[in-house]
Amino acid sequence: MTNDELLDAFPGVRLDQDNAAYYRGLLDGELLINRCDDCATWHFPARSACPRCWSRSVTPTAVAGTGTIVLLTMLHQGSRKEGADYTVGHPLVAVELDEQPGLRLGGTVLGVDPRTVQLGERVRIVIRRLEGRGPRVDFERMP
Ligand SMILES: [Zn+2]
Repeated sequence: MTNDELLDAFPGVRLDQDNAAYYRGLLDGELLINRCDDCATWHFPARSACPRCWSRSVTPTAVAGTGTIVLLTMLHQGSRKEGADYTVGHPLVAVELDEQPGLRLGGTVLGVDPRTVQLGERVRIVIRRLEGRGPRVDFERMP
């Protein structure tokens, strides 16, 4: 895929050299997070240098995609979103991935009664495609 095709796949997203691999991964149904080749620290969002040791040797690396809800906000108003029902509340969560403490991604929890979402729940990523936008990461409860 060319850079132009990647830009077309994610309208409105600020793509750059550092995060291109992350978005290419989403198109392939894979979550790639930058990991330092020197100290093995993961970091997100993607940067060109490791935030721990400043090494410029970082590699987009697949993660297991499982984690724990560490922050939870219930939105009762907001912009129109596919699947969001603000009358019952739309959960916005930060999930700490199992790979490393502090490695967090944001999203919503799909396929549940939003009122039952709780801190500490185990979830896994879902990469879903939205009409007119590129794929994005959300979460679902672990079975
Ligand atoms: Zn490092």
